[in-house]
Amino acid sequence: MSGFVSCLGLGKTYESGSGSVEALRSIDLECGAGAFVCLLGLSGCGKSTLLQIVAGLEAPTTGSVLIGGRELDGPSPLTSVVFQDHGLFPWMTVRKNVAFNMKAAGVSAAEREARAAGLLAMTGLDGFVDRYPHELSGGMRQRVGIARALTTRPKALLMDEPFGALDAQTRGHLQEELLRIWESQRTTVLFVTHSIDEAVFLADRIVVFSPRPGRISAVVDVDLPRPRDPEGAGFMALSKELRHKLVPDLHGAPLG
Ligand code: ADP
Ligand code: MG
Repeated sequence: MSGFVSCLGLGKTYESGSGSVEALRSIDLECGAGAFVCLLGLSGCGKSTLLQIVAGLEAPTTGSVLIGGRELDGPSPLTSVVFQDHGLFPWMTVRKNVAFNMKAAGVSAAEREARAAGLLAMTGLDGFVDRYPHELSGGMRQRVGIARALTTRPKALLMDEPFGALDAQTRGHLQEELLRIWESQRTTVLFVTHSIDEAVFLADRIVVFSPRPGRISAVVDVDLPRPRDPEGAGFMALSKELRHKLVPDLHGAPLG
């Protein structure tokens, strides 16, 4: 894959009063235009740190990030972020939350209206536009977060465990919806998860991280046809292979 998002020799060390933590070391990563790439790893191996750096929200200690060939020096208009805790404004309705980023990006009022309506329909939110976040289920709130992220027509969506707090059934629905959205919008997706099954269901390419310091321990291309069947032989074989790569000597260790 030629890189739309490229990380070159990225390292990140957090300094604090109690010492320093090397969160990432020597990360080289190419994420092709339109690809769905999952970053898979145990808790603490630097996945969120990497996503924050690619989002331009955190500066690397070493190395650089290129987005569309340009070196990043802050949040890029070509990317949007979706977090686990949705980050919606509690005092704004669904419609206002979805439209918010466009206003900041200078999109005209008529165009904001049109884009919001299209994305609200696409994410199944059209019946909920006047509700407030606390009136929605966790799955609906994540839909609002995704709709909001897409309003600025990003070339890459950066998602940090967006479905991590949802029950299994809702998570499954949203995974399918995300794939449908990805296929229709042809955006690049960089998706952080600690769930092997989620990565195998979603990704074209899975980048496996190992901890202390966070680094890439394996890169696996997933050629299973879509839609994928979690009970199919190929799916299960790949899940098993990834379980070994993820925890080579720590079987039974908690994920998260
Ligand atoms: P993951 O998302 O894979 O769980 P993180 O990127 O959140 O991993 O964290 C990687 C390491 O960096 C952990 O040891 C974590 O405690 C540390 N870390 C993350 N953010 C900060 C921060 N703002 N200050 C200090 N240490 C941090
Ligand atoms: Mg994290």
